[in-house]
Amino acid sequence: MQKWFKFPKDDPAQALRLRHTLMAAASYITIIGFVMYCGQVGLSRLSLTATWALAGLALMIIALFYLAISSGWNKHLRDPSMTLVQIVASSAWLLLVLYYTEQIRGAVLILFLNSFIFGILRLRTAQFLGAALFVLAGYGVVIALLAKYHPQSIDIRIEVLQWVLLAMALPWFAVIGAYISNVRSALRQKNRDLEKALGTIERLASHDELTGAYSRRFFLDALRREKTRSDREHRAFCLAMLDLDSFKAVNDKHGHMVGDDVLREFAEAVQLELRGSDYFARYGGEEFALLLVDTDLPYASAVLERIRRRIETNSFSHVGRKVTVSSGIAQYRLHEDLSGTLGRADRALYSAKAAGRNRVEQAAP
Ligand code: GH3
Ligand code: MG
Ligand code: MG
Repeated sequence: MQKWFKFPKDDPAQALRLRHTLMAAASYITIIGFVMYCGQVGLSRLSLTATWALAGLALMIIALFYLAISSGWNKHLRDPSMTLVQIVASSAWLLLVLYYTEQIRGAVLILFLNSFIFGILRLRTAQFLGAALFVLAGYGVVIALLAKYHPQSIDIRIEVLQWVLLAMALPWFAVIGAYISNVRSALRQKNRDLEKALGTIERLASHDELTGAYSRRFFLDALRREKTRSDREHRAFCLAMLDLDSFKAVNDKHGHMVGDDVLREFAEAVQLELRGSDYFARYGGEEFALLLVDTDLPYASAVLERIRRRIETNSFSHVGRKVTVSSGIAQYRLHEDLSGTLGRADRALYSAKAAGRNRVEQAAP
């Protein structure tokens, strides 16, 4: 029960709809006050009791919409804001007010704009024009009923002129209102597209498209952060460069597409040996880089050796022969330039290649 009277924090759209319903309630209340005053000064044919009944009806309309939204029932509808229904309901109620008002009926017509202004939030042109037609037809009926039952309170000539004036105003309101409503919904769609594009850009900036490993730029940022942390807290970390062996031959024999598949499957296989805290990146071509945080050289060697063995025994699709990887590892020396660490890892990789490939080499600590 209690949840029906709270604005849902996790659903901003529903909270906004409830807020709009409360705004409409405020509008109803001011109109009720106006009708009561008219009753006092003889401008309304309604008794005080009948005015209270009119207020009760307004309260019921508001309560129905409020409950429909707070219970979540509205979410099944095509337009969960129920804008058109709310406008039609409030216009019908206002036609009642109009019927019972004397002399200043012309001015009361302005109040229809109160409910039409809400249409700017949602309505399409056809719905807006439909609502305008509903009000004009309703006012026509009010005029006919007044002429029949209260001829003394109506000057038909003036009333018809008022009808014509309303007919001149409402359609424009509808057309411009619908235009604003369309601009709003186009803007909403653009914002959604933009959010999606931003997500894609962020992913592309931090990840390599082919292998899903981190991008070189993202990796170097992480490396710089790790260096700062290491210098401050004296923690060890290791950097490894990995390069697929004789990869040119794979491309030459099976084609570039198969080569791409091998790169993808290689990256997948390496990920299986890593912890969540490690950074694995495509450094360029068939060369990869690995940052092992909180790790010293012996432990890093063991990790790279596990990777080497996994790749050697991994069966790559479309490739009949063994794929192997060589790597060079360097442990970061406190306050060393990162280019120094990268250079040492690179030279260790070069030694691994020179020593016959499919090997892990360490740079001197
Ligand atoms: P080594 O054992 O000395 O590393 O020999 P290698 O053949 O792996 O080295 P080399 O540098 O001569 O050749 C690297 C090859 O990697 C050449 C290039 O066509 C291929 N390559 C680089 N990037 C890609 C890629 O994105 N897709 C594919 N399919 N091949 C790539
Ligand atoms: Mg290579
Ligand atoms: Mg290479």
